[in-house]
Amino acid sequence: MAAEKIIDLLIIGNGAAGNCAALAARRADAGMSITVLGMEKHCEYSNPALPDYLSGELPLEKMFVRDENSYKENKIDLKLNDKVIAIEPEKNLVRTESGKKYSYKNLIISTGSFPIQLRRMKGTGLPGNFVMKTIDDVEAILAYPGKRAVVVGSGAIGLEGCIALKQRGYEAVTMVEGLDWMSPKSLDFETADALAESVRKHGVEVLCGEAVSSVEGEDKVTGVKTEKRFIPCDLILWGVGMRADTELAKNAGIELGELGGIRVDDHMRTNFPNIYACGDCIESTDRLSGKPAMHLFWEPAQRGGTVAGENCAGLDRTYTGSTAVFLTHKGGLSVAAFGKTEMDLKDRDYRVIEERRPESYRRLLIEEGRLAGAQMVNILEDVDLMLDEIQKHYDVSGGSRWVFPDEIFVPEEGTTVVEYLNHMKKNRRVMVKR
Ligand SMILES: Cc1cc2nc3c(=O)[nH]c(=O)nc-3n(C[C@H](O)[C@H](O)[C@H](O)COP(=O)(O)OP(=O)(O)OC[C@H]3O[C@@H](n4cnc5c(N)ncnc54)[C@H](O)[C@@H]3O)c2cc1C
Repeated sequence: MAAEKIIDLLIIGNGAAGNCAALAARRADAGMSITVLGMEKHCEYSNPALPDYLSGELPLEKMFVRDENSYKENKIDLKLNDKVIAIEPEKNLVRTESGKKYSYKNLIISTGSFPIQLRRMKGTGLPGNFVMKTIDDVEAILAYPGKRAVVVGSGAIGLEGCIALKQRGYEAVTMVEGLDWMSPKSLDFETADALAESVRKHGVEVLCGEAVSSVEGEDKVTGVKTEKRFIPCDLILWGVGMRADTELAKNAGIELGELGGIRVDDHMRTNFPNIYACGDCIESTDRLSGKPAMHLFWEPAQRGGTVAGENCAGLDRTYTGSTAVFLTHKGGLSVAAFGKTEMDLKDRDYRVIEERRPESYRRLLIEEGRLAGAQMVNILEDVDLMLDEIQKHYDVSGGSRWVFPDEIFVPEEGTTVVEYLNHMKKNRRVMVKR
């Protein structure tokens, strides 16, 4: 079958990044032809809302970010349910599973990420093993008869998965984390401890420092073994991380970065001048450290998609990297963490200010009088203020630089979190941009 016409902008991936790219290109150029290819059968939906669908808080129809009409109104040709199986950069051609070919002038790859599955571990192929990345994944969980669940991993997906299963009516939910405390990349021990206490109040058992060693069962899951015990269960939800989906790109000769994501320049361009990439599948720069980073979050996916789309429409936009923000809010439990942890600051001169209340906890990490990291459980006040402050002080991306006219505020012994935040608010008014 011959390729019919050359599409001005072809986008692989129907997620946050791909859709933002399509809409940004359309806003920049009303006349260009734009086609989006997605392998799922659904229009764009919100992955962060999947736990709410699992818990029963959101019905399916509320999961969608846009419907088919929105694509039509924006003159975006949407092709669903057809997986792209090859990119041929030398021919500017893409092939799909159904045998279709698409020729493009510019291509954007936004294939996102997929959940890590421990396929080599005994029992992980049995019915009863689940992940949570797509609507279909959640529907498979909902269709499976189960009363007792084990959730493996304590990152955002594990955490929200536990609460959602409990809300769904599971009698027993156990979270198993192989590392010593929950989400150790984002949280210090004290924050994780406060979080674990709060999770337990939701009726979830939390076990840290014991990795799952096997999944038990003959013809379906009946339990998991950890290094310390056997936990009976019908269902396992694996929340052990996401990996950038780079297979297509790699097979097409597109370069990957040192962490394994698609390498892009500050215009989101790959090593092929008319192929761009954005979203979870790319490797970019951590704005706080200047180091290569994989930040698999909604905000950078949208921002990167917008930059890629605008550049494909002839504008000249740059992307200066992203900041990791751990933020979840589910069933009355909330956690936020960003900036540096104690692990990052070890061997440096820093101070911690904590505030412990019966239902909440927060801690600020202060280095040389400057807010370097913030972590909080069940209290999300001033999150934007703190994130803004950390980004302004530590941003090494070459974007805006900020000057703080007053002297550095090194908190004295006994300074409370509220006092420190009040000082920040007062100072904020006099910040000037250089
Ligand atoms: C349960 C869950 C909760 C989350 N919660 C949060 C949160 O609270 N905050 C936050 O910031 N982030 C959260 N995230 C992460 C956030 O959803 C992602 O960072 C974001 O969706 C990335 O968008 P993307 O477009 O790059 O990738 P994706 O959303 O993965 O989209 C990629 C799209 O490409 C399609 N595709 C892939 N390969 C092909 C192919 N070969 N052919 C055709 N189509 C293809 C896929 O079907 C998919 O539609 C969460 C993720 C999950 C799964």
